[in-house]
Amino acid sequence: MGLIVQKYGGSSVADAKKVKNVARRVIKTKEEGNDLVVVVSAPGDMTDELIDLAHQITETPHPREMDMLLTTGEQRSIALLAMAIWDQGHSAISFTGPQAGIRTSNIHDRKARIEGVHAERVRQGLSDGKIVIVAGFQGLTEDDAIATLARGGSDTTAVALAAELKAEICEIYTDVEGVFTADPRIVPEARKLDSISYEEMLEMASLGAKVLHSMAVEYANKFNVPLHVRTSFNSNPGTMVIKEVEGMKGVVVRGVTQDKNQAKISIFGVPDRPGIAYKIFQAIGAAGINVDMIVQGIGKDEKATISFTVPKADLRSAMDIVKEVGKEIDTTDITTDENIAMVSVVGIGMKSHSGVAAEMFGALSDEGINIQMISTSEIRISCVIEEKDTERAVVAIHNKFLPS
Ligand code: ADP
Ligand code: ASP
Ligand code: MG
Repeated sequence: MGLIVQKYGGSSVADAKKVKNVARRVIKTKEEGNDLVVVVSAPGDMTDELIDLAHQITETPHPREMDMLLTTGEQRSIALLAMAIWDQGHSAISFTGPQAGIRTSNIHDRKARIEGVHAERVRQGLSDGKIVIVAGFQGLTEDDAIATLARGGSDTTAVALAAELKAEICEIYTDVEGVFTADPRIVPEARKLDSISYEEMLEMASLGAKVLHSMAVEYANKFNVPLHVRTSFNSNPGTMVIKEVEGMKGVVVRGVTQDKNQAKISIFGVPDRPGIAYKIFQAIGAAGINVDMIVQGIGKDEKATISFTVPKADLRSAMDIVKEVGKEIDTTDITTDENIAMVSVVGIGMKSHSGVAAEMFGALSDEGINIQMISTSEIRISCVIEEKDTERAVVAIHNKFLPS
């Protein structure tokens, strides 16, 4: 038997009874002869509640202190789980992200990336025969400060540890039975996938399927860590995220996703000359803001309209930058729209199939849903629509490509 890394999400450790249940599952895996590292998230909705609390103090919480606050959620979970394991007769040791040797980039407030793992203490814990428990979503910057990863980042902590420790498998325990063809909370007919390729999972995660964090999938792919997404509420097998295997291309659309976390910025009256787009997006990129979709149209008057999407959380800072750059390049108007959503279809089969875009647009048109922006890659097609139409759009697209 080998080394297994397990990650339990917030719903699995939401209260004392659930923590005890996780302790029982963990001990069972250990008793089957495995070494075990367990990564846990903050209980229930605690991260949301802490963010809310900070905003009751100030509109602009200090980023370093925000991380000091947010990391307490995970810290509570590791201590409770370790206590539960000791209480059930096994030995455990809990570590915060910094104690577990997770090193991050020098940036705060849910923007840090894992840059390295110095897992000596974790290895020591394992060789002492203990179940090692690590707080997800956090690490240490080069300034010796605690920093948080993006939301959902406990998945990434688990995969980074699994890669460093060369674990046999990384099991992600969550509140659904695996990765589905669409969010089962929106599409009740969605089906659990037995397996999905890293490439498809990466697209789905980046496009809003929050069952796995995209960075976790990126690392898993890079370091060849097999992922098993499954539920902590029973022992049914879930979904294996693996390298593409023969036959996977036979399915054109693997899944449908939605993302309501984007906002649209439109800049009107942009002079149509070289270097303008560079100026705008260089400034936004330098602020660490991720631009997803960009559309530029030229009007009759030789002036362009540039529209693009940014995460809602970054809208304010993106607008500040755009207004500054806008002054220099003499635009006529700048508008924002937060009531948008992006719906997407993903599948490696699209590489060798045409006509998927037309079918997707048809599904939206049948529902009378207007498309504001479109973007495509080899294995995905995304449309920006009005936010209020999201659920209807996802169900219609799912019915079209993945009928039950
Ligand atoms: P955890 O707290 O365990 O990390 P998350 O809430 O981050 O759990 O992720 C699980 C949720 O992801 C599910 O409850 C489900 O609503 C949502 N989800 C979105 N898209 C999908 C999908 N394609 N398959 C499964 N779950 C999905
Ligand atoms: N607790 C963090 C969040 O809610 C990290 C995680 O759950 O993965 O985003
Ligand atoms: Mg999650």
